Amino acid sequence: MLCEFCAGETVKKRVKRHHLYNRRLYIVENVDAEVCAECGERYFHAQTLDAIDAFLADDHPVKARMDVEIVSMNQATA
Ligand SMILES: [Zn+2]
Repeated sequence: MLCEFCAGETVKKRVKRHHLYNRRLYIVENVDAEVCAECGERYFHAQTLDAIDAFLADDHPVKARMDVEIVSMNQATA
């Protein structure tokens, strides 16, 4: 497919994706994506995103856990 932003060619790749599900943040590895070779924009099929939701909804193996900080650059220079 062609990138919506720069019209570059996309290539199929497996990537790591930050995914929100039920108000929790997950880092999901090996997700099928189309990645723009020019600007790096990533595209996911709705089917792929549904498959992640379904995977997370069920009992699933967890590779690792990490703490996540939420910060805002608005306050960085105060
Ligand atoms: Zn692009």
